[in-house]
Amino acid sequence: MNASKRSRLSRRNMLWQTAAGLGAIFKMTEDRAAAQARGAAGQTPPGGPGRGGFPGRGGVRYGPINKFSAPSDLRITDLRAVTVAANFDYPIVRMDTNQGVYGLGEVRDGGFKGAALGLKPLLVGRNPLDITAILDAIRPYSGHGRQGGGYSAIDICLHDIVGKVFGVPIWRLLGDKKMDRVRLYADTTGTSDPKKYADRMLARKKLGFTYFKMDITYNFINVKPDHTDTYGTPTDKGIAYGGELITAVKDAIGWETPLATDTSSLRVRTVKDAIRVCRGWEKYQMAWIEDLFGTMGFNRWQDYKEVRAATSSKILTGEDGFGLEEAFKPLIDNRAVDLIHPDPGTSGACRETKRIADYAHAGGVQTALHMAGSPVGTMAAAHAACTMSNFVAMEVHAIDFISWWQQLVTGVPQPIVDQGFINVPDTPGLGLELNEPVVREHLREPGYFEPTPEYDKVRFVGRGTGGPWPHFNVDGVWVNERTSDY
Ligand SMILES: [Mg+2]
Repeated sequence: MNASKRSRLSRRNMLWQTAAGLGAIFKMTEDRAAAQARGAAGQTPPGGPGRGGFPGRGGVRYGPINKFSAPSDLRITDLRAVTVAANFDYPIVRMDTNQGVYGLGEVRDGGFKGAALGLKPLLVGRNPLDITAILDAIRPYSGHGRQGGGYSAIDICLHDIVGKVFGVPIWRLLGDKKMDRVRLYADTTGTSDPKKYADRMLARKKLGFTYFKMDITYNFINVKPDHTDTYGTPTDKGIAYGGELITAVKDAIGWETPLATDTSSLRVRTVKDAIRVCRGWEKYQMAWIEDLFGTMGFNRWQDYKEVRAATSSKILTGEDGFGLEEAFKPLIDNRAVDLIHPDPGTSGACRETKRIADYAHAGGVQTALHMAGSPVGTMAAAHAACTMSNFVAMEVHAIDFISWWQQLVTGVPQPIVDQGFINVPDTPGLGLELNEPVVREHLREPGYFEPTPEYDKVRFVGRGTGGPWPHFNVDGVWVNERTSDY
């Protein structure tokens, strides 16, 4: 045995003995609430506060190491959900463990809780510290659009648990904090009336927002018959009317203020039409023009590349894309867009969205975030956003017309949206808990995190899931039982 191998073995032996000795001390002796409280206390550890972020941004206070958790013995025991009925449904998921610490997560706005709960048999019994391995295991069952919501909710739950166990905020599990607060951009309800549109946007500016987006849709420009063609695609006159809407809004909020536009419902179908729109609005220097080929058109990277090459308007897409390789890599590799726009509720939440943003940064592409969820999903996205070097702004939808949106959670300073920014907490995990009375007031269906035995059995059939499943055995006989044939 060579010296280096001997050294590794003796070090491993020492760690093992140390762990065994500490095991007796680190027994889980408290109930769930106490364990959660320990993990989220946010106390300054002995020896002074930890420090993060850039020099001059102030010390970051971490929570204490949770000595009532034995991370190596941590196991996922259950997965439950509630659905909050809001502007969209917010399916909120809770992942329980054998040590009382639990994690919260959220399925993409307008999605279904089953997207996450269906993954339960692939999760129960696993150690939530194995974040990457678990996410790899459930990745084949994710997808674009709302199908990405299950994977994304599980990612948030895992990071919330691991953050609580080790007493660090989620952002610390992803990277360095590049900013203490995350800039939000205000989406707004649209209209074909320039004056009304301007008034609505100005009202948002008075809330403190510094970055804005307006939808320009078929409905908003189709005020005269010659504004669209037979297929609903804007004519040059329709594009000019869109310009009138933009002008009214810019006159209200200031021409120097960043203003983007979402064109996913403008019924642009071809590259040539997209170029006409982008060139027609170049003089407004929009912060970006979004989803020219619809929200699911992000895979048309060749078309976007042509459009981008033909205009000085900035191009953005991506809110329905899941995963770096599955959705964003071609857009970035081919310089097809100026900005990507993942929704962490679809794109893979904390870890995958950070991975996507880092790849975009290396490729010279900026990252804005789509978001229309509850404070749970929004805060998870904020944790990821504050670690991104190329972050621009994150969307917020419901802030001014759902009065109880911010009251859905506790544990974070209120208002959560403060003058158009979110302050990213330094407390463990997500840094928030559900405000049960408010959540109960707005449930889509009765019950509060009820048991989910209907999801105990494997929902996705495949190799290694334990069977039984119908198949031909080695004798060519059709059976529905577990065999060793595979
Ligand atoms: Mg959009």
